[in-house]
Amino acid sequence: MLMLISDAFDESLPQVLSRYGEVTADKKRLPDAEVVLVRSKTKATKDYIDGAKKLKLIIRGGVGLDNIDVEHAEKKGIKVLNTADASTTAVAELTFAMMIALPNHLVKAHNSMKEGKWLKSELERTELLGKTLGILGMGRIGTALAIRARAFRMRILAWKPLVYFSDFATIVNDLQEILGASDYVSMHMPLVDSTRGIINKTSLSWMKKGAYLINTGRGECIVEVDVAEALRQGQLSGYAADVWYSDPPVNSPIMNAPNTLMLPHIGASTKENMLRIGEIIEKIIQEYTGKY
Ligand code: NAD
Repeated sequence: MLMLISDAFDESLPQVLSRYGEVTADKKRLPDAEVVLVRSKTKATKDYIDGAKKLKLIIRGGVGLDNIDVEHAEKKGIKVLNTADASTTAVAELTFAMMIALPNHLVKAHNSMKEGKWLKSELERTELLGKTLGILGMGRIGTALAIRARAFRMRILAWKPLVYFSDFATIVNDLQEILGASDYVSMHMPLVDSTRGIINKTSLSWMKKGAYLINTGRGECIVEVDVAEALRQGQLSGYAADVWYSDPPVNSPIMNAPNTLMLPHIGASTKENMLRIGEIIEKIIQEYTGKY
């Protein structure tokens, strides 16, 4: 059995998996691979899957499956699995770090010091205490964020789709209502047809003037040109993004917009998470091969 490690995983993984079969990182060997391991860089499109004649299992190290044509794979009898639980803490902690960095101007303050400037009176900060956090996508990561936000004594709302009850947030039925009530909006939905571009000119106009938007979910869930305009107009006080239309972004209007905090899709990239992902992948391979 040949396992192709197509993207970056913990460096220990090839050796761990070599107990169960041959392991390669040589992408030219895709036609011979029975198992392919991807994160977000590899796009397992219809053509990619059709080119992998012996493929039986795709494992996505991470949560979202939007880089895999799951329907086509399953039609061909190829199983698609992910490591859904592993990344929750890594992404929630990064989201919270962004939610603190943005209204405290941490990056601007640091850069100004390096430039020899002293912006003590210019850099007015805002606190999280008592502010309302609106969570779009109250799943694993949204819930982990809510738990952290509670410790900062924020008021927490979550938008309803597929969620009926939460110990950590008040559920709101309507997107317009949650956007209108929130000082911070954090995005944790999967990318599907109904969430693509959900933050656009119209929904941005529903937001509180001067709110902050944080997106560690998926880049395509926002219309970048509309978010850039909302930043220029002051409708948004800041936008923090870990996710983009493509990795890396090409000609993104967010690059030249004011008050942004931009990260190169590092939500899942903690050392601990890479090890957790490796452990889950080993369990999947054990079950698949029957070798324990
Ligand atoms: P999850 O499945 O536990 O939660 C997603 C939540 O989104 C669901 O609970 C539901 O409330 C909501 N949702 C589902 N379909 C929806 C729809 N059509 N409209 C509105 N809301 C909908 O997933 P999770 O583990 O919390 O991950 C959430 C997302 O975070 C992933 O889908 C992925 O896109 C993103 N993610 C990003 C990174 C990163 O590196 N930045 C890493 C992991 C995950």
